[in-house]
Amino acid sequence: MRLTGGCLCEKVRYAVVAEPGDVADYCHCGQCRKASGTPVTAWIQVPPSRFEVTQGQAKAFASSARATRWFCGDCGAPLYMTDPEGRSVGVTLGTLDDPNAVRPTVHGWFSARVAWLKIQDPLPRHAEDPPYDL
Ligand SMILES: [Zn+2]
Ligand SMILES: [Zn+2]
Repeated sequence: MRLTGGCLCEKVRYAVVAEPGDVADYCHCGQCRKASGTPVTAWIQVPPSRFEVTQGQAKAFASSARATRWFCGDCGAPLYMTDPEGRSVGVTLGTLDDPNAVRPTVHGWFSARVAWLKIQDPLPRHAEDPPYDL
């Protein structure tokens, strides 16, 4: 399933191919919170070969030794995340043109969630790094 997405000002556009079995996660970590300004960020994780920027260019910020966050330098929208080993690309579900196309299946960094966010779904909850991030 080929999905398209992009930032708020529409200068940066991307395409991602989602397949059954891909991990889509809610991340409650403090870095995602600060980078997005929201209590939780939803991502789909795909191999780099299934992601491409199709228009414009995102700006990079190395938020840790193992993660670079890519965002629009004009409107600030957080778009995707890469790792130095090139294992996967995380794409924010909120920037998909159809944000309902992919549903998260797991919570990561659940121990870092904000107290006022009430989670009632039955999805698996990993206290810190979920297995797919290691
Ligand atoms: Zn933009
Ligand atoms: Zn995170």
